[in-house]
This record gives sequence, structure tokens and C-alpha cells, in this order.
Amino acid sequence: MADEFGPMNEKLAALRVNTERFRADFETLSGIGASGDGGVHRLALGEAHLAARAWLRERIEAADLEFRIDNAGNHSAFLACGPQGAPTLLLGSHLDSVPHGGRFDGALGVLAALEAIRVVREAKISLPVHLEAIDFTDEEGTLVGMLGSAALAGVLQPEALQDPRGGRAALEAGLARAGLTEQGLFDARRDPASLAGYLELHIEQGLRLLQAGADVGIVTGIAGINSYRLAFVGRPDHAGTTPMRDRRDAALGASAFTLAARELVLRDFPACVANVGEMRFTPGAFNIVPGRVELALEFRAPDAEKFRRLERALLERAREEAGRFDLELEIEWLGKCDPAPTSQAARRAFAGAAAALGLKHVSFATGAGHDGQSFASVCPMGMIFVPSVDGASHSPREFTRWEDCVNGANVLLQGALRFAHV
Ligand SMILES: [Zn+2]
Repeated sequence: MADEFGPMNEKLAALRVNTERFRADFETLSGIGASGDGGVHRLALGEAHLAARAWLRERIEAADLEFRIDNAGNHSAFLACGPQGAPTLLLGSHLDSVPHGGRFDGALGVLAALEAIRVVREAKISLPVHLEAIDFTDEEGTLVGMLGSAALAGVLQPEALQDPRGGRAALEAGLARAGLTEQGLFDARRDPASLAGYLELHIEQGLRLLQAGADVGIVTGIAGINSYRLAFVGRPDHAGTTPMRDRRDAALGASAFTLAARELVLRDFPACVANVGEMRFTPGAFNIVPGRVELALEFRAPDAEKFRRLERALLERAREEAGRFDLELEIEWLGKCDPAPTSQAARRAFAGAAAALGLKHVSFATGAGHDGQSFASVCPMGMIFVPSVDGASHSPREFTRWEDCVNGANVLLQGALRFAHV
């Protein structure tokens, strides 16, 4: 579909990433914070992560791109290839990893973005927008989760810093190590009018592409995540002397609900998931009927309507199961992240790019969290996936064939050029 650019722009349609340079960068980066088993251990704002960022800065400067760092620590390569005052199209991902994670998650997207921008600079091309390859701070949530992208998009909530996932001490230490301040994080916000969009290449972390025999996945949206703590409350009693029918056993309500949640999602909510990830029994002894069981409930849905319906259905079911076993139900809402649809223009640009490159693509929503969520309410957002062998991720077993990495980088490059011309 080279004709999308018009005959004057055959040059744009012919651009491809430099595979040797891309691969050399990938191998070098994989060695920073390497865990010795094929994976990496680069926790956000830890020593290995900061070393990876220092290396990225060198690569950006070596490519004659403008290096930028903002008050949230986001590192980027900027290319002023648009007219003065034009908005910037962000391409990016993250260099931090989960503990003992894989070397592709995030790293591939950052290096593909850098490579795409290097190629555009070398071709001396002008676009309607500027380009910026960005590495966001703490996508994985060692400290807060999607910290850098939320700060840049202006959706970072002060409460998120008060009781962060990794604890206050870790957040304070991490910010200090990177020379950042808590207040400064909020100054990283950019005017939405300055953002043309955000596009990201990532590994799939699932099996759908391999099962479909497809080269590229075009993400239709990122699932919303909602979480509750539910407590089923009955009465602790002697487990030997209390007849079965006289018990108010909180474990029965919690267990029945867990099984019912699975049946409910399987039957009525295709493309959604629910998880009971923790159950705490009180008093918690062999010989006492459980008086209280607290469970951690999380569920995800690809669109707002299903997200709301699933929430209602699960809570309704919890009340029913509590009633069935003569229990009280306490409901504590812990917070949610709404579903984030990708932009149609981005999906079309990626589909056009994949077709032009002769690659088979399929479209689907993803259940994993990504930085793109931060931008859903701010500017157009798009995302593509390349296949993960065995679906493995967040593990040293994580692997994507090199050919697929190159395909993904070329779809990112060509997709970005098409998106820029919309
Ligand atoms: Zn990731």
C-alpha cells in the first residue's frame, strides 16, 4: 500500500530498520543486568536499570539525536523532523523488568523505537510531526507501576505515591538514586496538544499469534482491571462439636464464590477474566470453623460495557453465595484502571504497514497492562505485538524469534510513517 503515501513518497515506503545495528543494540542491552540464565533483572531505578539507561543515552547521542530526560526520569531521543510547532509522535516502551524477567519485555519496544527514529533521521525525511523514542520509568510496578507514562500523560494520581506497590521506602530510595523528586514527577506532564500520539511495539506474552499463525498482532484495546477485597463473615466454632448444619462457615461462601466466578465468566463473559489470588482464613486453625475469610478479587474486561456488567455480576454473585451459607459480606473497593481502546487511525496505519510488508496480522484486545493505558484519554494510542514462543513472559524463558523482532520493528516504523501522514 505504498500508494497511501502518494507517488512522491516511495522513499518513505521503502524505509526499513537496520537489522545489524538493531540486533547489536539488543544483544548489548540484554547483557546489562543479565541474570545468567537468558533473562534480566533490571528493577526500576535500581543499579542495573540506571546502567541500561546510561547506555541508552550513549546510543542516542552516538546517533546524533537529541537526548532528553524529563522530571519523571523518562529517557528519550528526539528528532525534529516536523514543521515548527508540530506535535510529537511518541514511540516507546520500557527498559525496566520484573524480578528475574525476560530480555524482550519492554527492551524490544524501546530499541525498535530508537531504530525507527535513526532510520528516519538518516533518510533526511520531513514528516508532519516530530518523532521521539521514549523509555518510560517503572512500567512494571517495582515502585508504582506505569509511573513515567502516567506522569507524562498527566494522569498520575498523588494517592498512587502515598501507598505505592513497592512501599514508600523503595520509592523514596529509587527516586533519590535517579536524582528525581516526588513533586518533580508532576512537572513531567506534557500538554496533550503537543502529543500527536503514542505507538508501541511489545512482545505478546501469550499464545494467540502463534495459534493464529500470524506475524503481528494489532491491539484493539488494553483490558480494564478492577480489584476488590471481599470478606465472607460467619462465626468461629468448635470444629468437632458443632453439627454441620449449624455452622456459619465463611470458607464455604468464599470457596463457592470462587468457583461461581469462574463459571460466570466462562458462560457469560467471553474475553474477560476473573481471579481470586488470595484467601485469608481467620482464626485459621485445623479445629476451628472459619469465622472470616477475606479474598482478593481481580477481574479484567476489554471494553467499558463488559467491565461494568462483569463488576455487577460478580458482586451480585458474592452476595448470593454469602446468603446461601448464612454469612455477611463486606465489600472493599481497591481501585481500577479503565479499559483503554486503541485509536482507529493507529490500527489502520499498522494494518497498512503489515500488508505492505507482506505480514499476516490479527487483531485482539490484551489483558496485560501497558504504558499505552496512560495515554488512552490524552491522545491517540496504538500498539502491536510480535509472537512469544510458548507464550512465556516475565521469565528468563521469554523468547521471540529474531525474524519476528525485525518484522515488528518494521511494522512500527512503517506504521508510524503512515500514522504521521493521517
Ligand atoms: Zn512490558
